[in-house]
Amino acid sequence: MNARRILVVEDEASIAEVVQLYLRRAGFQVQIAPDGRTALDALAVQIPDLVVLDLMLPEVDGLTITRWLRDRSDVPIIMLTARRSEAERIAGLEMGADDYVVKPFSPQELVSRVRAVLRRTHASPDLLDEQPLEYSGFRIDPRTRLVEVNGDEIELTAREFDMLWLLARHPRQVFSRDRLLERVWGLADYIDPSTVTVHIHRLRAKVEADPANPRHILTVWGGGYKFEP
Ligand code: CA
Repeated sequence: MNARRILVVEDEASIAEVVQLYLRRAGFQVQIAPDGRTALDALAVQIPDLVVLDLMLPEVDGLTITRWLRDRSDVPIIMLTARRSEAERIAGLEMGADDYVVKPFSPQELVSRVRAVLRRTHASPDLLDEQPLEYSGFRIDPRTRLVEVNGDEIELTAREFDMLWLLARHPRQVFSRDRLLERVWGLADYIDPSTVTVHIHRLRAKVEADPANPRHILTVWGGGYKFEP
């Protein structure tokens, strides 16, 4: 199998070099873009297997790149963010970034996140044997990762699909935010549980007729979330 290609968009040379070193050691092919313009030029030529994206960048900022990418591709994005920039982080997650790491971070932690995100976003072989789920207007096909609601095809990110699939495959079963993090994100310890809330809201906006009064993806007070067929 060819090495997975990772684009690292980071203007601080010392951070970019350390990240490159650790990712190469872990067996990845790494390209560095030192500013947003260079990143967009590289992405226009080829979409890599994953993007590590600093949000504070010269020329074109990270959120603009996230939006640009999401208009074109489902490529996994891991954001690098400053501790104080929570609003930016949430904006990035809402735009469809897959994960984030807060600076200063350990390069080994970043490598673990990269592996976890790649594991999650590439359909696992046993999923290929699963049959599509069909009920109350929903059709969820794990082999093609296509979702239809009342005949309309719905565009979901890899993470949104995984979450919907998990919930819908276990109707009425309650999943706590921690459990969802563990099952869908893979590394519960590292990730803020509010990430789950953000993704649930996005999922509802896409599949519920009235996202403010959801009928299928329900909040269970104090408990978590469940799928009601
Ligand atoms: Ca920066």
